Amino acid sequence: MASYLSTQRGKPLLKYLNYYYIVHYAKKDIEYWRCRLRPCSGRLKIQNEIVTVTTAHNGHELTAIDHEVVKCDHELRNITPNAEIWHPSTIVSEVLQKLSLESRPSMSSDIALRNRLQRIKRKRYPESIPKTREEIDIPEHLKLDFRGKKKNEKENKKIM
Ligand SMILES: [Zn+2]
Repeated sequence: MASYLSTQRGKPLLKYLNYYYIVHYAKKDIEYWRCRLRPCSGRLKIQNEIVTVTTAHNGHELTAIDHEVVKCDHELRNITPNAEIWHPSTIVSEVLQKLSLESRPSMSSDIALRNRLQRIKRKRYPESIPKTREEIDIPEHLKLDFRGKKKNEKENKKIM
């Protein structure tokens, strides 16, 4: 099935069998489309809603969008922030900004990407995860008991 999309610049884009085409020209009632990747000679025509591939693609396996997604994915995987304090969400949004609008739907969801980075972070900086109760920095207001009274150190340890 062919689906009509539009490029980031608003030009018509056609997706057919995992390849992306841009309009080449139209003659009478026939639309001619050419592969989005230059200099590939992949061509198709549409007449009465029937799609015919007229020229095969030049052996490129990935579409332009595939390439972009793969590149973005690679970038996320190989991210090497040099500090322990970095936020997966910030990195994900920075990397995703480089993706074109057409490629965005082919990429994993923000949440999935953030979770993946979180796992990378934990693996790389296991010391950033508190190992003991003492290392957990509890905000003062949470140190109160249910009556709103402040617990002393000894009681706190017993309760946790
Ligand atoms: Zn092509």
